[in-house]
Amino acid sequence: MAIQAPEGTRDLLPDEALFWTRFKDTAAEVFGRYGYVLVETPVIEQTELFVRGIGEATDVVSKEMFTAVSGENLKRLLDGGAIKAKSRLSLRPEGTAGVVRAVVQHDLVPQGAAPAKLMYAGPMFRAERPQKGRQRQFNQVGVECLGAEAPSIDAEAIIMLMRFFEKVGIPASSMELLVNSMGCEKCRPAYRDLVRAYMDEHADELCETCMTRAAVNPLRAFDCKNEQCAAVMAGAPKITDHLCDDCREHYAAVRELLDGAGVPYVEEPKLVRGLDYYTRTVFEVQVVDGLGSQNAIGGGGRYDKLAEEVGGRPTPGLGFALGYERCLMALEAAGVELPRAQRCDLFVACVDDSVRASAFGLVQACRDAGIVCEMDHQGRSLKSQFKLADKLGAARVAVLGPDELAEGACTLRDMAAHEEARVKLADVPEEMHRVFL
Ligand code: AMP
Repeated sequence: MAIQAPEGTRDLLPDEALFWTRFKDTAAEVFGRYGYVLVETPVIEQTELFVRGIGEATDVVSKEMFTAVSGENLKRLLDGGAIKAKSRLSLRPEGTAGVVRAVVQHDLVPQGAAPAKLMYAGPMFRAERPQKGRQRQFNQVGVECLGAEAPSIDAEAIIMLMRFFEKVGIPASSMELLVNSMGCEKCRPAYRDLVRAYMDEHADELCETCMTRAAVNPLRAFDCKNEQCAAVMAGAPKITDHLCDDCREHYAAVRELLDGAGVPYVEEPKLVRGLDYYTRTVFEVQVVDGLGSQNAIGGGGRYDKLAEEVGGRPTPGLGFALGYERCLMALEAAGVELPRAQRCDLFVACVDDSVRASAFGLVQACRDAGIVCEMDHQGRSLKSQFKLADKLGAARVAVLGPDELAEGACTLRDMAAHEEARVKLADVPEEMHRVFL
């Protein structure tokens, strides 16, 4: 059997690849209005970065990381030897840790500086069990703002995320924005203890995984997909009833700004998101219908302690990431048609082989003039060249035969109007521009 793409990965064939480019361009345009600029960080980082940044006990780090080792180090490991900590590399499971590492490494937010507003786009890798909307390699666009803790940073990021989704064509009515606050290191520990005590009281109704998690991070139980666990956790204490004054004020200010901007949202006190680094604001955008259980198209939150976790000075931060493949699914569910990658303005058809070299010259001249132009390269009959032109969606076909060539001209056919005219070869690019530009 021919070799297939690895499980949980998929090829972006031309139409999707084109849309990925447009998607990134739209993100750069929309997020650029809010001051975000592009950075590119490596797809491999030291494993230690994710362990310290995302948290050793998270699913992403404990179960889902792809480890990368050079051939030499792999041999050492297989021979039972050890390798240096900095040679332990992992494919990035998300973008935030790498960007924060880069900000710290290059001191992009010196004390007193304006916040750094950065965006990125590229593949992420998680060894999850593949299912609809859940891949092992997927593409994300994300932003990170480092160096400001004002609620206006949170609110403007959420607003621009919703603006982006709408601009890319996902109908506002098909999305729901969930928001919550996860508190800070002052108020969360006490809340965590409350949840742990509640879980202990309901130990016999919760699954084993939840109870194991209760010891390390009980909040993770809010994410359990088991229906009975979900029902039990619905009755658990709510974080928003246990925020300290600073966190309560911060959260209220974010919501006020969203209200002022007319961005609808639902408060969801059970929204905890799967990574350890979040503090205060968290949010997620879900598609209401058609995506099944993997219905989150984007999400993020504040991470005021992450820079310190990876060895930098205290630098508050906020970011989000959105999944390209899930957005495609949301567009499909909403019945939005993707633009086609293959475009052809002009097809040059040869009546016989004697005109091939002249046709080749005409095609080049048109391309040099900026026209998307194609010809047959397989010796097809005139009839099947017309079929090919149709398939490519060519708006015009230039027919070149010995008679036309003797006059230094071609017959230019308007495929929609079924009209044709003799046009001098040298005038074809200009004629095409007259029609199309
Ligand atoms: P997260 O980093 O988990 O908050 O993910 C941010 C966004 O990336 C999600 O809302 C999804 O759109 C997308 N995403 C996360 N994990 C996957 C995956 N395994 N396959 C496809 N998309 C994903």
